[in-house]
Amino acid sequence: MPPDKNPGMNKEAGKFARIVIPTPLKEPLIYKVPDPLWEQIEIGMRVLIPLGKRKVTGVVLELLRETVVPETRAILAPLDERPMLDTALLQLAHWVGQYYLATLGEVFSTILPLSLRSETQRTITLNPGTFYAADGLEKRILDRLRQSNGKLSVKRLTREMHGGNLYAAIERLESIGALNIHERLPGHRTSSEKILLESGSGPTFEAQSRFILNSEQEQAFRKVEHRLKEGGFETFLLHGVTGSGKTEVYLRAMEQARGAGRGSLILIPEISLTPQLIDRVNARFPGRVGILHSGLTAAQRWAQWWHIVRGNVDVVVGARSAVFAPLANLGLIIVDEEHDPSYKQEEGLRYNGRDLAVVRGKLSACPVILGSATPAIESYQNSLDGRYRLLEMTQRVQRRPLPFMETIDLRSKFNRSDQLNGGKVSVQTDSAPVQRSAEHRLISDRLATFLRENYQATRQSLIFLNRRGFSNYLQCTLCGHVLRCSYCSVSLTLHRKQKSVCCHHCNFRRAATVLCPECGNRTLSPVGVGTEQIEEALHRLVPEARIARMDRDTASKRGAHEKLFRSWEKGETDILVGTQMITKGHDVTGVTLVGALLADLSLNLPDFRSGERTFQLLSQVAGRSGRGDEPGTVIIQTYAPDHYAIQHLIRHDYKGFFAAEIDFRRALNYPPFSRLVCLRLEGPKFEEVEQKARTLGAMLHDKTIHNTRLREKIEILGPAPAPIEKLRNRYRWQLLLKGKQSSSLLELAKQGREALPRSRGVRLHIDVDPYNML
Ligand code: ADP
Ligand code: ZN
Repeated sequence: MPPDKNPGMNKEAGKFARIVIPTPLKEPLIYKVPDPLWEQIEIGMRVLIPLGKRKVTGVVLELLRETVVPETRAILAPLDERPMLDTALLQLAHWVGQYYLATLGEVFSTILPLSLRSETQRTITLNPGTFYAADGLEKRILDRLRQSNGKLSVKRLTREMHGGNLYAAIERLESIGALNIHERLPGHRTSSEKILLESGSGPTFEAQSRFILNSEQEQAFRKVEHRLKEGGFETFLLHGVTGSGKTEVYLRAMEQARGAGRGSLILIPEISLTPQLIDRVNARFPGRVGILHSGLTAAQRWAQWWHIVRGNVDVVVGARSAVFAPLANLGLIIVDEEHDPSYKQEEGLRYNGRDLAVVRGKLSACPVILGSATPAIESYQNSLDGRYRLLEMTQRVQRRPLPFMETIDLRSKFNRSDQLNGGKVSVQTDSAPVQRSAEHRLISDRLATFLRENYQATRQSLIFLNRRGFSNYLQCTLCGHVLRCSYCSVSLTLHRKQKSVCCHHCNFRRAATVLCPECGNRTLSPVGVGTEQIEEALHRLVPEARIARMDRDTASKRGAHEKLFRSWEKGETDILVGTQMITKGHDVTGVTLVGALLADLSLNLPDFRSGERTFQLLSQVAGRSGRGDEPGTVIIQTYAPDHYAIQHLIRHDYKGFFAAEIDFRRALNYPPFSRLVCLRLEGPKFEEVEQKARTLGAMLHDKTIHNTRLREKIEILGPAPAPIEKLRNRYRWQLLLKGKQSSSLLELAKQGREALPRSRGVRLHIDVDPYNML
């Protein structure tokens, strides 16, 4: 044997496990596995381990027969009787760590709900009336239960019973009905069973009929069905116009997967905004649906996880984080409204749920359906490149027409209106002239006329304005001073009902006043409009109508949104005004008129996706119109009627929009022709942040010149202050890396991060495939 040069590299034989502790900044550690536990512990299981003086929860990543790590500490106990995470999910976790440049600790703290990182209390109760001839450990458990009046904590049992696999014995006793297992988080009373029932509650539950698929639905479904039968991974892009019945295709595919004994995962943008989809899934899979979203309490989230792990559900519906749902036997993944920006996590680990759904599908060898009426430019390009298979549904169900679209040019003070497919809507002069007042500047005569007519015909109208609050900001009419947030470099928005001004970024609030802090005069006055002001104007325009508003202000309380939506769904609201909250997925057949005010608001953001975002938002809101027997109308009020996003929008022409947009992306070398990584530095001191950003910039430039490991040229944009330079009292500078291959970009970003001297005052965030660069 050669002499050991490095005594630290001595291999020690034995039984070990590599364990990740779900805390950011932690890489996995090696622990010893005590002999009696070796048979019980499996990869993907949670275990209790010592860390410093504490006991913490870890997840087993690997079992080892030797290690070079000296003096390992021992695992204390398994926390589950089966793995919480299957192989594909563990592989996904590793992929996430590498792609988003995060530690495994950070990845697991994102995947595992907080409640799963603390210990739960498990009790077992005897099922009276079962007579079961148990022996050995099982008999001892039952005897012990009888002694203690039929109820006992598992913790207690572990202390008392040795020899044999206690968890396996308990599970077996449960499976034959001899006892029941109850789990709860210390300090929470909700039982898991209750939540599962609650999640299945909706207003109507008449049994949902299965439709006979129309031919486009049928064709789309057959392709997916074929893949489900053949097995294996494939990504489908389901491009179906609004109201083409995409949900029914999803449901059929999910039924098909269940028929083959496999579970489905369906991601939706924001669960609280889409109660109807949950109704439909619940109706199709009664009692077999798991629901995951950020609005759950710790106990609820934990209970949902537990149900999913135990195989009690066939379908999981959830927002982006549900891409990590612990469905073991995954057979299908669906991402509804795949273009939606809310799939991108903007804090902590900045992942994209839609992209991860595709990766998970690949690792689980199952098909993935990305559905949208307005696919993300990247996704559509992928379908053209043959990476995704395109499924198209060009017609609304039952041949309902797409809504009639009309723009109103705000520049010419509402005098002109461009009519498309002319004649379908009769042009009317105002029969009831309204005073030239505030509401006139917000809602054109033409839209006002339509609103009144629609109300008289007892049909519903939707008014969309993507800005909440009463006014955009407050400005002094004497000195021009604009009231700004003390913590962010943005103006404050007036909320008149709450008598306050508020920052829409950090939620800083103070009492509204007319007193200008700059010149001392009582001359602050509101500029620009928000949904609150529109609501007031609508009351004046159509005084008898029942009007409601839906935005973050009216729907912030738990359940408030659902209440608003249900009354809208039932036709108890005549006019609904709201922000982008009202654009998503609503299928309300009484709606025949949609008005979009200041439709170009989102066009003016300093973001290369502003055109795409505008087209998507407006197509979505327009898609709410005319979903019943009556055809719909959409009025778009805009300062930019000639912009290609608006022009293609009013022609319902996604492909035309794509063709124009892709030229623009190619010309400026933006995604999908390049990949981006954003490096953002944040800290409380402006000079420090700026200086760090400049240091990082210089280092990166240097590295791109001298580094041979980077296989291609990388463009470095910046450093420059972020468009929102100060946010929540932190100054922000950023650098953007742009290149063809993400591997090179990630390599450069990693090198930059490693070389940058650490400091307390400034933090570096790396955002791979950034969405929001404001
Ligand atoms: P999308 O998600 O494509 O906008 P939805 O899935 O919400 O459309 O479907 C629109 C409406 O059409 C829903 O009310 C749905 O129940 C109904 N629908 C779906 N498929 C059919 C069908 N084959 N025949 C009749 N109605 C259908
Ligand atoms: Zn603020």
